[in-house]
Amino acid sequence: MSFPDELMHLIRTDEPLGPLVWLGIGGPARYFAEPVDQEDVQKLIQAANEAELPVRILGGGSNLLVRESGFDGLVISMSGPATSGLEIDGTLMTVGAGAKLSHAVIKAVGAGLGGIEHLVGIPGTVGGAVMGNASSDGRDIGSAVESVTVLERSGEKRVLTQQEAGFSHRKSSLVGLAILSVTFQLESRDVAALTKRLQKLWIGRNASRPNEEPRMAVPFVEPDQMSVNDLLQQVGMAGVCEGEVSLDTQNPQFLVARSGATSEQCMKLIGRVREQVLLQTGIDLQLNLQVW
Ligand SMILES: Cc1cc2nc3c(=O)[nH]c(=O)nc-3n(C[C@H](O)[C@H](O)[C@H](O)COP(=O)(O)OP(=O)(O)OC[C@H]3O[C@@H](n4cnc5c(N)ncnc54)[C@H](O)[C@@H]3O)c2cc1C
Repeated sequence: MSFPDELMHLIRTDEPLGPLVWLGIGGPARYFAEPVDQEDVQKLIQAANEAELPVRILGGGSNLLVRESGFDGLVISMSGPATSGLEIDGTLMTVGAGAKLSHAVIKAVGAGLGGIEHLVGIPGTVGGAVMGNASSDGRDIGSAVESVTVLERSGEKRVLTQQEAGFSHRKSSLVGLAILSVTFQLESRDVAALTKRLQKLWIGRNASRPNEEPRMAVPFVEPDQMSVNDLLQQVGMAGVCEGEVSLDTQNPQFLVARSGATSEQCMKLIGRVREQVLLQTGIDLQLNLQVW
């Protein structure tokens, strides 16, 4: 396909996606764009829609498994500085979808605003977190959202309320839309107390992560009222391997990929684990990881 001339400087072809995702696995995107501003995102989506070209939005790549065949469409990267603005107005904080979630958390805490500090240390962008209703400490990001600005497939901009965004356990009803920015409704709190809480949460989070394993993912949604780690330990799945992919021994909620790991190995391991959990406990573990 050919994009309008004004967009051509943004488009790259056959861009490898492996280096852009945490698992380090995956083939190329047929077309890849890093928009310079939100208008570019809109124009790119309109052009792809008119050409009936499939579109995917890439955030921080911490919840993605990309197949070696890559993606035969347009990938729009939303992790650049142009889509990462942040503004605070009273207790409302509006953040570009491409901003790192940890940056938004630190800015909120620094301004004495509570409500998202429990999400500290979750990798990725604000857009990725809102799309998948990321959660930690038993609270999800959706509960702090006031509104979400999105682009429809046609490129039309809409502002959705928290209710319209349809947040539920590790899900939203925003699938298929491009999130441009998110407004959070936060609460005024004491900065010193918030900072102390943030530090405590940060230390706890780092302690529960596999050391020296940069290529990893959290493949499963935490089942209701139960820790995935405990469940996987109980069914004997901690440390289980498939080729160069394994579940961590101490914290089996983490899937770790070593050099030579493939998407097929990841999918096989995930399938084996789900099967064993279902067989032994009757629990149908849901997939958190998005597969392209
Ligand atoms: C070490 C580690 C720890 C983790 N801990 C947690 C945790 O505690 N809690 C938790 O919930 N998750 C956790 N995760 C999973 C992951 O970090 C979150 O799901 C995160 O919110 C994904 O954000 P991202 O920007 O990396 O999204 P990506 O991986 O880039 O994308 C994920 C999905 O969101 C879509 N998306 C991204 N940005 C946009 C946008 N602007 N508009 C529309 N769609 C978009 C993508 O198309 C894709 O479908 C962890 C992952 C790792 C590797």
